[in-house]
Amino acid sequence: MMTETPKARPPLLVVISAPSGAGKTTLCRRLLEDFRELRLSISTTTRAPRGQEQHGREYYFTKREDFEAQIQAGEFAEWALVHGNYYGTSKKVVAESLARGQSVLLDIDVQGTESLKKSFGDRCVTIFIAPPSIEELEQRLRGRGTDSEESIRRRMENARGELAQSHKFDHQLVNDEFEQTYSRLHAIVSRALRGDR
Ligand code: ADP
Ligand code: 5GP
Repeated sequence: MMTETPKARPPLLVVISAPSGAGKTTLCRRLLEDFRELRLSISTTTRAPRGQEQHGREYYFTKREDFEAQIQAGEFAEWALVHGNYYGTSKKVVAESLARGQSVLLDIDVQGTESLKKSFGDRCVTIFIAPPSIEELEQRLRGRGTDSEESIRRRMENARGELAQSHKFDHQLVNDEFEQTYSRLHAIVSRALRGDR
């Protein structure tokens, strides 16, 4: 009897968005450890490196004029101005990964998520991470110890607007207790990668 070859599942864009300080970087790191099939999309940004961040690991750090040249050259799948700096996703990385059948993990803002949904539609599974409260968000930003007062102020100002858009996402999680949030996130990503959403 012939055994049927399982149909290859189409690769996905797993898009995670959250107000700054809600914990998405920490959650994404764990996802990358547990889902070896996911490739992280490393964005390009004009903001300065923070803490231990390294060029090519957390971001490709670049000058404003170089970023603008990349926009002109059509190198971004999406880009946005966030908290006064440019951030963009490489079109090449996304296209190459999808062509290879590899799913991509993206940590991008709400505007970027909307742009990717327009370009990639059903290929996107979108997850919004909310903090338990605005007060806790501020404490986490301060506790991280990597942002200037001006940067914290700007991020807090933007947080309310971002929270108001959480309904546009396929899934919403409140990052209260970390392990519990991670286990919910793990279940969502696991189901999506199995093609069962
Ligand atoms: P983001 O990437 O969304 O800006 P981070 O992952 O850098 O946020 O998290 C901001 C800070 O909050 C970090 O110091 C991180 O260790 C901490 N943090 C993340 N999740 C939780 C949680 N569930 N409870 C308490 N602190 C958390
Ligand atoms: P941070 O400066 O804290 O690393 O990131 C600030 C915000 O920019 C976060 O909401 C993060 O998700 C978002 N961001 C990071 N990379 C990109 C990107 O390539 N495109 C867009 N649109 N947002 C991004």
